[in-house]
Amino acid sequence: MRIDLHTHSRASDGTQTPAELMHAAARAGLDVVALTDHDTAGGWAEAERAAGEAGVTLVRGIEISTRYRGRGVHLLAYLPDPTFPPLVEQLDRILAGRSSRVPAMIERLRTAGVDIEHDDVRRAAQGTAATGRPHVADALVSRGAVVDRSEAFRRYLSPGRPAYVDRYAAPLVEMLRIVAEAGGVSVVAHPWGRHGRELPDEATFDQLAGLGLAGIEVDHQDHDLAARDRLRAIASNLSLVVTGSSDHHGLGKLDHELGCNTTEPAAYERLLDLAAAASARSGRATPGVVR
Ligand code: AMP
Ligand code: ZN
Ligand code: FE
Ligand code: FE
Repeated sequence: MRIDLHTHSRASDGTQTPAELMHAAARAGLDVVALTDHDTAGGWAEAERAAGEAGVTLVRGIEISTRYRGRGVHLLAYLPDPTFPPLVEQLDRILAGRSSRVPAMIERLRTAGVDIEHDDVRRAAQGTAATGRPHVADALVSRGAVVDRSEAFRRYLSPGRPAYVDRYAAPLVEMLRIVAEAGGVSVVAHPWGRHGRELPDEATFDQLAGLGLAGIEVDHQDHDLAARDRLRAIASNLSLVVTGSSDHHGLGKLDHELGCNTTEPAAYERLLDLAAAASARSGRATPGVVR
């Protein structure tokens, strides 16, 4: 059984529609795929309709932008009730922060000598509530300022580059609680991907486990073999579930092909059991898996 628990569609910054993604997952030989767009469940309904036709099992999730001790942490929330009011409220705040920073980024690009219009970004972000830097990158590509998203991030959009603008992220500890109360389970995405190794460290993961964290995304393209080994050991010490995923973005991110990392069936079953328990405790109508 091949299981990939982290992918993006055009409902955020992937380049495939949710339906295209379900069919691509089937072609890639996946049995189970999670749709985890940034900060929105907007792609769920379409993916749900397409999953059966494509012949893949769909796990509905959201990759939520959170912050912990000043650092950005991407939290994968699987199978939460997306109508749980505190969750809706936090996602709305994050989405508002995403939209409101676009004019500031355009202004900074202008100062850096690159002219793009808000409409270029709107066109690139069509179909998503979660406008992000990748859409600004696409706008830069469409204007011929860069050749691809990677160059756009390298030259303009990464932290420390001229057009980088920060945005709101939900407090991690609060979000762990909200996801649990929404009947879902939480896994930290690519924890050592962007800030380098050893942060969050084992003591931090221990605290987060006490606050409801269920797992760590260990096998991810942003982790080298040494980081994976170390994270696997931490997960084992703390009885956290180990996941592996592609973080596929269609053509939007190179070297993240569907199924390039996968999750062990036993780990997947454990996550489903934890989700079922959280769902029962929450008393909420949770989405469940679409087979
Ligand atoms: P944002 O959501 O606006 O903070 O932008 C972050 C998104 O940009 C994440 O989904 C990343 O996967 C994506 N991203 C970061 N660096 C790059 C890159 N070099 N090329 C393409 N996408 C990237
Ligand atoms: Zn993304
Ligand atoms: Fe991420
Ligand atoms: Fe992601």
